[in-house]
Amino acid sequence: MKRERAVSKPARKGRGSAGASADVAAPGTQPRNLKPYDSVLETIGWTPLIRLHRVVDGARTPVYAKAEFFNPGGSLKDRIGLAMIEAAERAGRLKPGGVIVEGTSGNTGAGIAIAAALKGYRCVFTMSDKFSQEKVRLLKAFGAEVIITPAAVPPDHPDNYIQVAKRLAAEMPGAILADQFYNPVNPEAHYATTGPEIWAQTEGRVTHFVSAAGTGGSISGAGKYLKEQNPRIRVIAGDPVGSIFAEYFRTGTKSESHPYKVEGIGNDKLPGTLWFDVIDEFHSLTDRESFHMARRLAREEGLFAGGSAGLIVQLAVRVAHEVNDAGALVVCMLPDTGERYLSKFYNDEWLRENRLLEPERLTAGDMVARKDGGAPALVSVEPSASVRQALSLITHYDISQVPVLHEGDCVGSISEATLMARVIEEPSLLDHAVETLMDAPFPVVDEHIELSGVARLLTRQNPAVLVRHEGRLAGIVTRYDMVRYLTQ
Ligand code: PMP
Repeated sequence: MKRERAVSKPARKGRGSAGASADVAAPGTQPRNLKPYDSVLETIGWTPLIRLHRVVDGARTPVYAKAEFFNPGGSLKDRIGLAMIEAAERAGRLKPGGVIVEGTSGNTGAGIAIAAALKGYRCVFTMSDKFSQEKVRLLKAFGAEVIITPAAVPPDHPDNYIQVAKRLAAEMPGAILADQFYNPVNPEAHYATTGPEIWAQTEGRVTHFVSAAGTGGSISGAGKYLKEQNPRIRVIAGDPVGSIFAEYFRTGTKSESHPYKVEGIGNDKLPGTLWFDVIDEFHSLTDRESFHMARRLAREEGLFAGGSAGLIVQLAVRVAHEVNDAGALVVCMLPDTGERYLSKFYNDEWLRENRLLEPERLTAGDMVARKDGGAPALVSVEPSASVRQALSLITHYDISQVPVLHEGDCVGSISEATLMARVIEEPSLLDHAVETLMDAPFPVVDEHIELSGVARLLTRQNPAVLVRHEGRLAGIVTRYDMVRYLTQ
């Protein structure tokens, strides 16, 4: 952005005078890390904000990703690891030679372990067996002890990883529980760092902040800061299907959780660090959507991130299409590095075993829902409308055909090609009613019909199919939509 361009110029000039081409923006010409650091802890935060180009599928609204895997421990949790340790030191709870205990899905463990390694504390982490081996080995690499607990137990079961951590912290001399799910230092760390960074990096132009909640610390803290700067910023959360957060947000009731594969976000209980009042929307997304987008991020943007990043970006792209405004600015989080999932969703075999590689069984309703481009789901005309009005709709929405609807039924259709040909031959037709020139009505299908059924109806003679939702005509699937889907 502007700020970065301004600083990058002198650097290029310097290189040019030394004999290199001054016009080539070689990687690394922006002066980052100009000064040496006293320790790795000083490199936490100020992660880059990077524009997404290809995975946004042509959205007009710019989407920028906050690449938290640039932190030394590979995730956004480095920010809270250090902050929680220093807060416990200040409060006198953590003394030299002390022990830090935490139930962690891996990333918080790495954040705590890095700070503990430098400050000389011992770390004991409990982790459920759902999490990848890479994460366990990573924590051990930083010198931490890791205790694996079964994932298939309810939150209040004594073998649950949080319960085991609590017990250990109470029993071990000099031990504290970092307690990321209830420790206010967690959201406060993001309020103090992540939020201000996004505000500065976008020069206050951010309009939508999209993230997801595990403990909720990052979306709550950063979201609160951003809203304080501009109350109109929308804070939008994604949640894995199976987690209880999105349903709780919508209804205020705690539903039953179901297993899902995305790691680090969603939950089967409500953490104290998730501030629902900061969040404007909560959306559920599937494992399949999340992993598919994470893999696209690596292949199409060169950003190698975890499954939660896939879920968040999938939602951010959806938001960008809905907002459809080049003056808006969506910021989304990429919480951790993809290296933690090489044996999981970056491995085709794992995806196949988990039935995530098979083609998705899309329905007509799904197809209508995933359409973008700013036009309403169904643009139609009345039989009495003039040809001129119909043509203006066609050009306004940049579409090729329009159904003619009367009292909720499709009574005919008009296509750009035939209508234009007729009008060029006979301009006076512009003021005739559409019903005098219309072709046969489009077929109508229920929203639950599979896409293969829709494809069979899209013939040479028939360019579109109407989709019924709860008894009402609510959308259209055209030959163009189908070809676009097949070629993506
Ligand atoms: N993604 C991943 C991979 C994580 O490990 C976490 C932290 N649990 C998050 C997202 C969400 O962060 P927070 O705990 O701040 O809600």
